[in-house]
Amino acid sequence: MERKTERIYFENAYKVKFEAEVIESLTYENRPAVVLDKTCFYPESGGQPADHGTLDETEVVDVQEEQGRIIHILEGKVPSGKVRGLINWQRRFDHMQQHSGQHILSQCFARLYNAKTLSFHLGAEYSTLEIEKSGLTDEEWKKVEECANAALFSDRKVATRFVQEEDISKVPLRKPPQKKGVIRVVEVEDFDYTACGGTHVRRTGEIGLIKITKWDRIRGHVRLEFLCGGRALHDYDKKNEVLRNLTKKFTVAEADVPDAVEKLTAELKTWKKENISLRKNLARCEAEDLLKQAEKGILKKVFTGKAREDLRSLALNIIHEGEYVVLFGNRSGEEVHVVLACSESLPYDMREFVSDVMEAVEGKGGGRPSLVEITGTKGDNLETVLDGLYSKLI
Ligand SMILES: [Zn+2]
Repeated sequence: MERKTERIYFENAYKVKFEAEVIESLTYENRPAVVLDKTCFYPESGGQPADHGTLDETEVVDVQEEQGRIIHILEGKVPSGKVRGLINWQRRFDHMQQHSGQHILSQCFARLYNAKTLSFHLGAEYSTLEIEKSGLTDEEWKKVEECANAALFSDRKVATRFVQEEDISKVPLRKPPQKKGVIRVVEVEDFDYTACGGTHVRRTGEIGLIKITKWDRIRGHVRLEFLCGGRALHDYDKKNEVLRNLTKKFTVAEADVPDAVEKLTAELKTWKKENISLRKNLARCEAEDLLKQAEKGILKKVFTGKAREDLRSLALNIIHEGEYVVLFGNRSGEEVHVVLACSESLPYDMREFVSDVMEAVEGKGGGRPSLVEITGTKGDNLETVLDGLYSKLI
């Protein structure tokens, strides 16, 4: 039978350096890996990601568990015999903060709302918790956070111990254990008892802060995102910077930012309306002016830098003024825009010209008999194209 690995992190989650013996070399999912006789490396399980670090000079990029054997997945030279292990403490401590914070949050939901924790996932950016509860009011959100942070401020001791299966009923566990045999119990002093194999802080004060950042309803339950410790501080930093930038932009105090944004949004709405009506008027005036240049009822012109909707609007204004045919082109940066329009009383179908124009400007387009539009990328021959159409129409 293959040997199981002794888990140093069960006894001491703060030990980062260790010496061990390679007892097996293998390939795990196409990557080199070793099993050690003992290890500080935590394998991915119970919603907590694996530790990273090194074995001698070789990077440990993932750690998995199979029937009590802890498999260290490596990148680089595979060590043998005696090895010196070192875990990435920053990553581990972050996981300890998030994971211990989860026990506390779960306990707060249990004692305040009798709501069970259904699942936990510790992600790279934030952690999620699924709670058997149909919703979360703002008041409940606040109460849970208060309860959780009070448990941190009172700096409770966090201890782990192994309990025999027959004695486990004496421990007031938050939820029944999923494993049989000897059970590892994590106890947050006078607060929470959970069967758990993860790594935790020694005292709740080390978690620093617990913050729920958002929640959604999923499968009829509350799924919330939360941050603990360093992650919460980083998030505060980010949000503070956003707010500071906004106070500078609006030159208002922090508390007045929402009002300033609301005022600006309302103003923008008014300006947009005004802008639309002004542009319509402008198109009308421009149409009147252009009509003077019409020959044989045909108006042909190439513009530069005109917005698409303005060109269309101008063409429509003209064809509604009387019986006219409009052949408009526009160059705007790399883009070419052609609008062909005619008054509805005229016997033309502008769609007949679409394929010719599309080919000339290397573009695409379409429309109805009285109005077609083509957009393309080739604009150097725009005048020639429109001249060609003009000669077909007269
Ligand atoms: Zn745990």
